[in-house]
Amino acid sequence: FIKVKNLKKSYGEKENRMVIINDINLNVEKGRICTILGPSGSGKSTLLNLIGGLEEPDSGSIEIDGIDITELNSKKLALFRRNKLGFVFQFYNLIPNLTVRENIEVCEYLSKDSLKVDELIGTLGLEDHQKKFPRQISGGQQQRTALARALSKNPALLLCDEPTGALDYKSSKELLALLEQINKKYNTTILIVTHNNAIANMSHQVINLRDGLVSENYVNEKPVQAADLTW
Ligand code: ATP
Ligand code: MG
Repeated sequence: FIKVKNLKKSYGEKENRMVIINDINLNVEKGRICTILGPSGSGKSTLLNLIGGLEEPDSGSIEIDGIDITELNSKKLALFRRNKLGFVFQFYNLIPNLTVRENIEVCEYLSKDSLKVDELIGTLGLEDHQKKFPRQISGGQQQRTALARALSKNPALLLCDEPTGALDYKSSKELLALLEQINKKYNTTILIVTHNNAIANMSHQVINLRDGLVSENYVNEKPVQAADLTW
């Protein structure tokens, strides 16, 4: 479903040029939860942004759902992102002057594949908060709103960069349980970049990055339920 081949990315000019993604090859099957681990600065976010079409690689190819996104012009890439990809970031990035419901509706899609806002609000347990503003709810509730927004188009691929990075233990576990539930219910492929090694235990696949290369890439035969994770 995701096929990354000989991917390379550097930043900076001439003598300051730094190779961040050295030569990455990886595949992720449809419907999997895949965790990307690695030390700070190892290029996890860069890799996620390349797969999400938010950064342009120096070379290599990235196939998602049968489409090589490195071959798309910027207009087609923007359409692909809009129709196929959902993003969740560490700091929620909600619109402060809109309610929870309005934040989700910002990205509501009216195609046949889109998920109804009410269904999402129910699935993510936001019924009691839908009329509140982001500043009136907890970090966990804000992240669930951001997740609902990302899911409103029913994306084929959900990209999460440190989704629990700003959350406490309990809210992190709740969010992970929701990601697990969404993966099962909608067969959404989910990529999670994280510092939390425990998330690897609930994933179907684990990729470790080191020095711009994949140092480890394995299938987890027995993922643990998010509710049973501890760290
Ligand atoms: P963390 O765990 O701290 O989030 P990461 O693994 O996500 O780290 P990246 O954000 O991908 O790491 O960054 C990898 C390297 O690339 C870092 O050394 C960073 O300084 C550099 N880098 C990232 N984005 C840019 C940019 N736009 N311009 C220049 N250098 C960048
Ligand atoms: Mg990062």
